[in-house]
Amino acid sequence: MKLLLHACCGPCSLEPARLLAQAGHDITIAYMNSNIHPVSEYARRLATLRAWAEEAGIPVIEGAYDAREWEDRAGAVAADPQADRRDRCRACYRLRLEEAARCAAGHGFDGISTTLTVSPYQYTEVIQEELVRASRAYGVDSVFEDFRPFYDEATRRSRALGMYRQNYCGCRISQAEAEAERRERKAARAAEREAKREAHAEERAATEAERAEKKRARQAYAEQQERKRRILKELRKKRDD
Ligand code: SF4
Repeated sequence: MKLLLHACCGPCSLEPARLLAQAGHDITIAYMNSNIHPVSEYARRLATLRAWAEEAGIPVIEGAYDAREWEDRAGAVAADPQADRRDRCRACYRLRLEEAARCAAGHGFDGISTTLTVSPYQYTEVIQEELVRASRAYGVDSVFEDFRPFYDEATRRSRALGMYRQNYCGCRISQAEAEAERRERKAARAAEREAKREAHAEERAATEAERAEKKRARQAYAEQQERKRRILKELRKKRDD
């Protein structure tokens, strides 16, 4: 099948591209990710993807970067107090997969697929629903694969290739969430270190107290012996006189 593979970044493309090509698909990558914030991050992920795709001989189509549209759709969902992260991500997947399906229909592709399912941090069933929805809306096929079992291999390969690996999903909210999580983890590590330090200090104080007690007991014993010796000496002296 002539397949347009929506890709979120280079590292996540490695295994899906390999597996889909192995399954006989003729792949072109679609980098359609208006979710990525800031634009410098968008450009960095794209440059990483392009460098690898060029080496691998896979064409890349770049979508229109429209942060405003992401705000109007996924950002608006996030602002709704009734909505949760899943709702926001659904709106985000919808925006990107619709763009990929529209592009596929307009450029003679048979179907679309996505690399988003490599990540165990994404909502796989929601991605499947949105992939199918977008493909139907634009009259193309969808090739859904749950690539999560290949996450470790994708991580290993991307590290071995020295690829840039981002530490947050993409949108401004996920960036803030990831930073908050890192801060929490750091604070938890610091608290753990402090608790260990305190436990160590208490242990040291207990050892010192034990040593001091032993020393006091030794001293008391020595003094007692000395007194005993003195009394015996005096008794012997009286007896000899
Ligand atoms: S967390 Fe990721 S999938 Fe969810 S809205 Fe943000 S960029 Fe999109």
